Amino acid sequence: MSDAGKTPLRPSADQGSKEPKMPINFDTLPEDISMKIRAGGKIRRIVVDREACIGAQSCVVVAPGVFQMDDDNLAYVTDPNGEDEDTVMLGAQSCPVLAVHLYDEEGNQIFPEE
Ligand code: SF4
Repeated sequence: MSDAGKTPLRPSADQGSKEPKMPINFDTLPEDISMKIRAGGKIRRIVVDREACIGAQSCVVVAPGVFQMDDDNLAYVTDPNGEDEDTVMLGAQSCPVLAVHLYDEEGNQIFPEE
């Protein structure tokens, strides 16, 4: 159960306020990130931080057209265009550990708000 070598997308709660707000390098995301790009609109990238996911399935219940659970009971993005933007946002907001991150076209984080 070693986390060695993993790069968390989301800083832990005790250090979050001290971390500099660095833009995410989408080319070097760790393997346990699920990310897909929407065709248009304000929300362009949907990311599930699978290290943070606790399998609560809220995102799947709220936005089943976008999120599904895998065999490890971790969420992933199936179809980024599978729901409207309001539903995608509600799905992200429903996550109890804020493991769903939403970005605009420039890579600015829309949710969770920083
Ligand atoms: S709501 Fe969050 S914790 Fe629950 S399955 Fe979705 S991403 Fe994982």
